[in-house]
Amino acid sequence: MIYFDNAATSQKPQFVIDSLVDYYQNDNANVHRGIYELSERATNAYEQARDKVQNFIHAKKREEVLFTRGTTESLNWLASTYGAENIKQGDEILISYMEHHSNIVPWQQLAQRVGANLKYINLKADGTLDLADAEEKMSDRTKIVSVTHASNVLGVVNPIKELAQMAHQHGAIMIADGAQSAPHMVIDVQDMNVDFFTFSGHKMLGPTGIGVLYGKYDVLNKMNPAQFGGEMIELVDLHEATFQPLPWRFEAGTPNIAGAIGLGAAVDYLTNIGMTEVEAYEQSLVSYALPKIKKIPGVTVYGPQDSEHHSGVIAFNLDSVHAHDLATALDQEGIEVRAGHHCTQPLMRYLGIAATVRVSLYIYNTREEIDHFIDIIGKIKEYFN
Ligand code: PLP
Repeated sequence: MIYFDNAATSQKPQFVIDSLVDYYQNDNANVHRGIYELSERATNAYEQARDKVQNFIHAKKREEVLFTRGTTESLNWLASTYGAENIKQGDEILISYMEHHSNIVPWQQLAQRVGANLKYINLKADGTLDLADAEEKMSDRTKIVSVTHASNVLGVVNPIKELAQMAHQHGAIMIADGAQSAPHMVIDVQDMNVDFFTFSGHKMLGPTGIGVLYGKYDVLNKMNPAQFGGEMIELVDLHEATFQPLPWRFEAGTPNIAGAIGLGAAVDYLTNIGMTEVEAYEQSLVSYALPKIKKIPGVTVYGPQDSEHHSGVIAFNLDSVHAHDLATALDQEGIEVRAGHHCTQPLMRYLGIAATVRVSLYIYNTREEIDHFIDIIGKIKEYFN
């Protein structure tokens, strides 16, 4: 089988699977509660995972790393906490036309609830973000700018640092959706100067059900918890309670301990290879694959046309074959690709299409797999013609 659907989720190395088995076999206990050795081991492993993530994204403090279920939960949490506390009628939230539904719908819901306006940054003809339009649409009414770091369709990596600078000039906060960037490149939240950064463990070799919300300490520290219960409290009286400091204040209830440990193992695995090397290897695959895909007669590739500016996500259509038929035919040949709207319906409408086929590459894919894929596409095309 050739697995080319890494933007949806990645496969898991044995090292990560072993870390989950090892935790359940040897260290399983609840965290932050027991004073016995087993619980201390579980707590240490869980908190070490936080340290690993802190280093991975170059956060200043470990308290800035919150574990969530994934990008979707992180973004929803932001809309219903930071958003609900800070956005009022007439305020503006700025996102872009290339966002995943999970960076659109939470803001739509918030805007509808409080009477705020949701605005979209245009894209240029090559699929990249129109920064002049971003600048034009930002004003002192803008309170949140939330843009994906890397598109899950267009293969575009957005200039988050520049956007953050613009957002801050207008007194807005900058949120970057890192679901498609954290698995593939060096992430430096301090350099980008984002207020929040979100990503999912399962797209970067880790388990499902675990993800991260990074938040700048000063911003997080002013926010109120959204969920209450065990783990996050300090003292509870009959009619009031006080809360733990960061980060535990935002992690109510028994967390996904195994998930966090598995994510820590995935971070170790990627760090051991080196994120610069990961990025360079994927770039070499794109440089190999993109020109070959573009050469297929009748193909339209979306996003930048040169491999230098294209990430490992390649979305395309073949004029003679529907995206779903092509994906089904590829599946019959043992090649797994995604077909559909990729949870980006506004983007599909912007591009004037209903669906695309999407090849998304990761560290274990090879040139041989790409060659085989190109051969098979040729055969499928002949069959449909
Ligand atoms: N944002 C982007 C850009 C994505 O590609 C995805 C997943 O495909 C998400 C957010 C949502 O991630 P999750 O389903 O892991 O919460």
